[in-house]
Amino acid sequence: SRRGDAASERRDGPQWNAERHLIQPWPYAGSIGNEARTPIGSGDGIYITDGEGRRLIDGPAGMWCVNVGHRREELARVMYEQAMTLSYNTPWYTMSDPSAELAERLAAHAPGDLDHVFFTTGGSSAVETALRFMQFYNNVRGRPEKKLILSRGGAYHGSTYLSASLNGRPRDRDWMDGADDLVVKLTSPDPFRRPAGMSVEAFCDFLVEEFRETVTRRGADRIGAFVGEPVQASGGVIVPPPGYLPRIREICRENDILYISDEVVTAFGRIGEVFASQDVFGIEPDMITFAKGVTSGYFPLGGVMISSRLTEVLRKSNHAAAMFGHGYTYSSHPIGCAVALKNLDLLEGGILEHARQVGPYFQERLKTLEDLPLVGEVRGAGLMACVECVADRESRNPLALDNDVGKRIDRHCHELGLLVRPLINMCVMSPPLTITREQVDDMVAILREGISRTMDELRAEGVWNG
Ligand code: PLP
Repeated sequence: SRRGDAASERRDGPQWNAERHLIQPWPYAGSIGNEARTPIGSGDGIYITDGEGRRLIDGPAGMWCVNVGHRREELARVMYEQAMTLSYNTPWYTMSDPSAELAERLAAHAPGDLDHVFFTTGGSSAVETALRFMQFYNNVRGRPEKKLILSRGGAYHGSTYLSASLNGRPRDRDWMDGADDLVVKLTSPDPFRRPAGMSVEAFCDFLVEEFRETVTRRGADRIGAFVGEPVQASGGVIVPPPGYLPRIREICRENDILYISDEVVTAFGRIGEVFASQDVFGIEPDMITFAKGVTSGYFPLGGVMISSRLTEVLRKSNHAAAMFGHGYTYSSHPIGCAVALKNLDLLEGGILEHARQVGPYFQERLKTLEDLPLVGEVRGAGLMACVECVADRESRNPLALDNDVGKRIDRHCHELGLLVRPLINMCVMSPPLTITREQVDDMVAILREGISRTMDELRAEGVWNG
């Protein structure tokens, strides 16, 4: 710990307390239980304020979640009012008005016959629910062998045991166990990292062929589900090749493999629509998982949209008494559902339209950063984007990973008034959807300066000479 630091010499305060008592997510063994992170005191609109009173653009909108922006009076009020009306009810054998109304509103937005919803506490629990539902569905259908799950490199689906077993980003699993016997991993649909000399079209064919070949080799009768983010978010905002998702969807349909579209990030306006699977990517999944933006992060809530076709199969099965033994104390939480209803009002009342307008401008302005020699590619969709840095643009060498270029850019940008989400050699951005064009300009100007300072620093240290 930073002993010389005045703040930590005080035997109280957030830094003192955190360094002794708080374990935050994703810590390293070497600093576990002894680490203070950047304190954030308050938020307003697209801005947050750090412990030193510096106002920062909230580049990642918290964790891709504060979609309608911070300090929304309407959301604060609805939480208060719901808590004063009904703070909690057991979903085991009662229900609340907000949960039933939200179910109806979400069903109206979801594609095709995804007319049912199971509410959870967040994204991991949503993915976990979808997977356990697939297992239950196949058990009831008399297909207990059909349980393998297909996932991909670059994926992030959560931090519960089964959802985390699907994760495919480098380093995530190095020191962690997983249910590896249940999961089959495929290639990330990352066009930037396609084999040298291969066209994007040929790369798409390769991915589809790999999928088809895996189904043949492992056997369709053993594969229960495919889980995929329409745009791999935490993997670096990887937008798949055009046509890839519909082709994968079709193979799943042909082989009775449930297609689970993980929209924990892409839903609720991040790409301009409430759900992106059909409206943006033209696919109708069997299940859609969501969380984050459903309450704009004001209350922990997630869920799974489930096709009526699946519920009907269960209802008409020979095992009417078979129980889906799954649920959370906070499933269908009345406060979460009330917040989500008001959040949906805000999205439908203009924010979705705004996101559709400003999204292309955000992408176009960020793309201008590609003239910086450290930047290999800027990519994205709607209001989610990634700046990927490379040592050499020809070979696309992602820099010696331990230079932690993302962290360096984040440090410089922080000084300049922007929080970015550093991911090894990448910076990921997903600001509140309310961001204006002028604020996009500010964000891009700060990023340009932050990346330029990082380039100077790397050159001065002799670790990069671009
Ligand atoms: N799925 C996706 C696509 C995510 O990005 C995340 C979190 O970032 C999750 C699932 C897990 O959600 P949570 O952290 O709410 O459990």
